Amino acid sequence: MKLIKALALAGVILGGLVAPAFAAPATVAEEIAAFDKPTQAERLAVLTGLLDARGLTYEVRPFTSGKPGAPEGYNVVVVLAAGGDKDVLLTAHYDALVLKDGTLVNGVVDNAASVVALLRAADALKGQTFQRGLRIVFFDQEERGLLGAAAYAASPDGQRVAAVFNFDINAYGDTPFYAAATTPVDAPLEGVITAACQAAGETCRGLQAYPPSDHLAFRKALIPATSFSYLPAAEVDVLQGFMAQLAMGERPSGPPPRILGLIHTPQDVMDVVDPATVEKAASLAVQVARAAENAR
Ligand SMILES: [Zn+2]
Repeated sequence: MKLIKALALAGVILGGLVAPAFAAPATVAEEIAAFDKPTQAERLAVLTGLLDARGLTYEVRPFTSGKPGAPEGYNVVVVLAAGGDKDVLLTAHYDALVLKDGTLVNGVVDNAASVVALLRAADALKGQTFQRGLRIVFFDQEERGLLGAAAYAASPDGQRVAAVFNFDINAYGDTPFYAAATTPVDAPLEGVITAACQAAGETCRGLQAYPPSDHLAFRKALIPATSFSYLPAAEVDVLQGFMAQLAMGERPSGPPPRILGLIHTPQDVMDVVDPATVEKAASLAVQVARAAENAR
């Protein structure tokens, strides 16, 4: 803390600006761990601090869902390219689940790891030329029912969205998978996903019954959307079978995959996080942005 204070002071003296929370480049693990805070307001402050440290401009957009018990939420919008009349969105939720006792889970696997993956993708994408709009949007209140994503989809900018590539659960494991198209609206994304995964050197598995996440708020608004995750291959197998049985209204025949017993609990902690997975997700996000641009 003292060192950070000293660096902040140096920033003020040298630059005359408000010094960023991270004066020196932080590691992937340090950036993810920074989100482990007791309140959503502090998680938001960590996110804007990491954007400030990168020199990325952003807009914090308040929204109210009208859902009983839900406070005002704050989506954070980073415009990487403003061209054209349509935007491709790379997205991840930064909020963490509130437990019944009112405390926040640590929320590093779900979903600070994906947030940091997109921040790293932004580092690689900024300054590149894109003909069509490209935004990174960090959603609030996913855990309260995809409320931030729904607010964005319903806002005037929702009309500009060409496609949404959401990232949720990208903290350990080496096997990428995504929410496969389930309607003709999402079908055009499959080509982009295939091209992006190939360019990233990955074999991505499409799950028909992918767990609920922010992509569903856009699908509901008939906007093409998917979500990406990483897990160990064996765990993807278990998750796929488990979700498929649930989707068919069957009682799952086996135990749930590890990930479903870990997120939304006090076990969602840094010990589980493998920075190498987050780097992979960042590379995949970069390739998704490029493939979406090429698919125009
Ligand atoms: Zn999540």
